[in-house]
Amino acid sequence: MRRVTGPRMFWKQLPGFVLSFVLLHRAAESCVPAGASTDTLILCRTCGHELAFGTDINFVPSPLALSSRNDTSVSGRRIHVQVLKNPHGHRFEVVTFRKADVTKHWPADRDFSWFPGFSWTVATCPRCQTHLGWAFQPSDWPHTISKTTFEESKNTFVALITHRILREDFASSLLITPKSFKS
Ligand SMILES: [Zn+2]
Repeated sequence: MRRVTGPRMFWKQLPGFVLSFVLLHRAAESCVPAGASTDTLILCRTCGHELAFGTDINFVPSPLALSSRNDTSVSGRRIHVQVLKNPHGHRFEVVTFRKADVTKHWPADRDFSWFPGFSWTVATCPRCQTHLGWAFQPSDWPHTISKTTFEESKNTFVALITHRILREDFASSLLITPKSFKS
């Protein structure tokens, strides 16, 4: 993995218009790395915080998904992107992860869960507090649990909104390509 320049510094210099089209699901089309690293990082798109590895991606199908499609390959595996709608009618494209470094906001809620049998909490970026998605835990668990309990269980997972996260290798590629944007 190339970690020549920290994404955080780079982030501050990145023009907003570049960010506007840096979507995870678009990233693949323009930047599929040959022989993708097994430890591709997934970042918060707002602040560059390292949220997860590509190997943490784990498809959990929701029976309530409006659509589900295979998308870009990360760490040698296909990503399943699901479109889900909340009770307010807002649609979200999400990718599910076994785990991610996000702040969970307990107590968990059993109502309106996209994953039957699982309660949810809002999940935010630990650094910039952007809403990144939701964390899911078995509904028969206590509504409030410890961070350790959540992270050590194999029955928990996180769904992150695709346009609020970014692949680190794609972010790095922008260090080179923005030449064309220079006046
Ligand atoms: Zn952030």
